[in-house]
Amino acid sequence: AAPISLVLASGKLARRGIVLKDAGALERLTQIDTIVLDKTGTLTEGHPSLTGISSGYGSPNRLLRLVAAVEEHAQHPFASAVCAAAKRAGLVVPEAKAFQTYLGKGVEATVEGMRIEVGNARFGSERGWWQPTPEVNRFVTNKEMAGETVVYVAINGEFSGALAFADPVKRSSVEAVQALQSEGIAVWMATGDHWAAANSAGLKTGIGSIHASMLPEQKVNFIKKLQQEGHIVGMVGDGFNDAPALAMADVGVAMGNGTEAALDAGHLTLIRPRLTGIHEALIISRLTVTNIR
Ligand code: ADP
Ligand code: MG
Repeated sequence: AAPISLVLASGKLARRGIVLKDAGALERLTQIDTIVLDKTGTLTEGHPSLTGISSGYGSPNRLLRLVAAVEEHAQHPFASAVCAAAKRAGLVVPEAKAFQTYLGKGVEATVEGMRIEVGNARFGSERGWWQPTPEVNRFVTNKEMAGETVVYVAINGEFSGALAFADPVKRSSVEAVQALQSEGIAVWMATGDHWAAANSAGLKTGIGSIHASMLPEQKVNFIKKLQQEGHIVGMVGDGFNDAPALAMADVGVAMGNGTEAALDAGHLTLIRPRLTGIHEALIISRLTVTNIR
């Protein structure tokens, strides 16, 4: 590519808050026919709030206090939501020891001598404690029907409650998905979240092609599969867990609100965390590459 066109394109992109980290990505962008989008933090605001607790361990705050002790050590957006809620409730959060995180599944730590585990149904099932009571089941059904995500808590290996989180879809995501689809690009959602939350975000944004409950390596394999079918694939993500998928894609786009690891992995960074940036980048790349030829 002619360097001068590239410099001009980089400038145009930069003015829209789009950082081009790999010059080759500009040409590959013009060839993209498929885009895979992460949900949390990419299609959604990425700042979920805690909307409810179903506690099998006394008052909701009694459970929240223990969960917050664990989540204080975690990086996930749900962790920030839990800590903010505990602070708002004026709870004194105890120290946690031996914290461990399981990518795409959950977290655990020891708090006041008890082993506290927090994570999705898969995590709880794998560890043999996922046995929601009818009361928790009603809570889960209500929350999931509203498009929220529920995570489960075990204390010393015993099912002890559930927490629900809401994370609204960004308005710019709806606009971006529509713009990409009208360019003839196939848009997929690939998320670690469960199908009900994924489906709800799909309905709001107009994405019908959805893979839910995906582990980070499954996102990578999905992109590899699309590429083997001959597609040129863009991937947009924000999380630590999205970094391998961003690296695998022909064009990996990191959302500016994301973690350090995701920012490092992408070929393009959207400083303003709006998906419309990817459509703008696409238009600019086409103009630039046509000029070069
Ligand atoms: P996404 O693709 O939506 O960004 P992740 O792969 O980060 O999802 O996480 C998948 C699921 O794992 C979450 O929806 C949640 O149920 C569970 N999870 C991950 N980290 C945590 C945590 N720190 N606390 C509670 N649940 C977690
Ligand atoms: Mg994410």
